[in-house]
Amino acid sequence: MKDCLFCKIVRGEIPSEKLYEDDEVLAFRDINPAAPVHILVIPKEHIDGADTLTSSHEGLIAKLILTVQRLAEEQKLVQGWRIVTNIREHGGQTVRHLHFHLLGGGQLGDFGLK
Ligand code: 5GP
Ligand code: ZN
Repeated sequence: MKDCLFCKIVRGEIPSEKLYEDDEVLAFRDINPAAPVHILVIPKEHIDGADTLTSSHEGLIAKLILTVQRLAEEQKLVQGWRIVTNIREHGGQTVRHLHFHLLGGGQLGDFGLK
């Protein structure tokens, strides 16, 4: 996707602090961290969000979640951590390219309506 921000990060057109990369998955630090550890894990392939996944993505989704888990171990988040994926406007999705937030490094707050 030409104008997608995260596709540009995948292509290296926008710099990022990468923590993991393979042929399918990229992990990089969030530019505006909401917790001491805030990492984004994305598929290199453009997928709009969790709402557009299909059964063809089963293997990829497992790989993304396992990548988040491994990063949590590497970051030594032994007291706990959180995976978040926001979906569309009410879900707070600001970048329309599927991404999982890994959040940790301190006590996280509750969810809910604003
Ligand atoms: P969303 O709000 O869609 O769930 O998450 C998008 C995330 O992308 C936000 O946490 C935001 O801080 C992060 N972000 C936006 N632009 C950039 C960027 O250019 N580089 C990096 N590393 N993160 C970004
Ligand atoms: Zn994209």
